[in-house]
Amino acid sequence: MRKEFLPFSIPTIGEEEINEVVDSLRSGWITTGPKVKLFEDAVKEYVGAPFAVALNSATAGLHVALLAMGIGPGDEVITTPMTFAATVNMIVQVGARPVLVDIEPGTLNIDPGLIRAKITERTRALLPVHFAGQPCNMDAIFAIAGEFNLKVLEDAAHAIGTEYAGKRIGSLDSISVFSFHPIKNITTGEGGMVCTRDEHLAEEMSLMKFHGMSREAWKRYSAQGTPNYDIILPGFKYNMLDMQAALGIHQLKKLDAFIDRRTEIAEYYNAAFADVEEIAPPSSAAYDHRHAWHLYTPLIRIERLKIDRDTFMSELKRENIGTGLHFKAVHHHPYYRETLKIPEGELANADYASDRILSLPLFPKMAGEDPRDVVEAVKNVINRNRK
Ligand SMILES: *Cc1c(COP(=O)(O)O)cnc(C)c1O
Repeated sequence: MRKEFLPFSIPTIGEEEINEVVDSLRSGWITTGPKVKLFEDAVKEYVGAPFAVALNSATAGLHVALLAMGIGPGDEVITTPMTFAATVNMIVQVGARPVLVDIEPGTLNIDPGLIRAKITERTRALLPVHFAGQPCNMDAIFAIAGEFNLKVLEDAAHAIGTEYAGKRIGSLDSISVFSFHPIKNITTGEGGMVCTRDEHLAEEMSLMKFHGMSREAWKRYSAQGTPNYDIILPGFKYNMLDMQAALGIHQLKKLDAFIDRRTEIAEYYNAAFADVEEIAPPSSAAYDHRHAWHLYTPLIRIERLKIDRDTFMSELKRENIGTGLHFKAVHHHPYYRETLKIPEGELANADYASDRILSLPLFPKMAGEDPRDVVEAVKNVINRNRK
């Protein structure tokens, strides 16, 4: 057995990132400023989007995106049950109702074939989530959006570096929201970014992120600026700091190498679990794509075991292997169970995955033998608990 605990995720922070943060600290300007602008420009260039607005989280990004799209009370937004709570929480926060559509059993992404049946006269937007960094079927989603005149908001928290049909997520005709939380593919400590092709939406989101103020502080306080400002709308305080962008500038340069290493580990796991009956590895979408491998999320076939998924995770911990849970389905959380009242069996694929899913360690800094240790530990737990 492994001697030292292997966490499920550790960020890869280099000297470049550390020096850039120190540079911010020494510069006299630590909040939103030139480094945020640099990071926004770098993300625009990387994903191929004309507009990008940096924020202090992806949750803030979802919030301002929904508001900029004009989603509010009485509206319905169609999304997936296999996501982090922030996706649906923000729909509720703008006064709208999340409508959950079941997932595909293999990719665990929203099943576009089931969306039409959920569209009503109140439906205003589709909110796909690129689960684990594998893109949703965006052609199918845009076709439905076009047919019913719906807006598209992509929760791309897992998907910086993901490509769909040769295009990077962030460059499509929608708003995409990226997360830079420490477990995500690149990190700014906490942080998020919204990307869009729509200048008006970008302008709205940019105003909303900082009090609705006409000009940002660093422009007002600079030598050329004037301290005066106007409030254009009642905004939030969602701005990213230069200290955070300092990390992002260097993380982004390393993203492709990070994804290559993540892919290598994911492929190792796929091969290692191919003939393990008790494990169902994630499956690959049929369309052309690049998976960013934010997460490696097999399903544990608990019907073949004497233990449930939560016990499986604690058994792995005893083997010194950390795990994550991405995700317990949205409608299994008390608030959404009570407010959405999803009929039994309506989201059967999400129910199935929710009870069996776990996230195995997957991060670029994993040492050579770490993936092997993980596979060995998983097999040990299975062998101890087979029915
Ligand atoms: C992490 C995550 C978010 C929230 O990101 P933050 O930057 O932590 O606000 C939203 N949606 C999904 C699917 C996520 O995994």
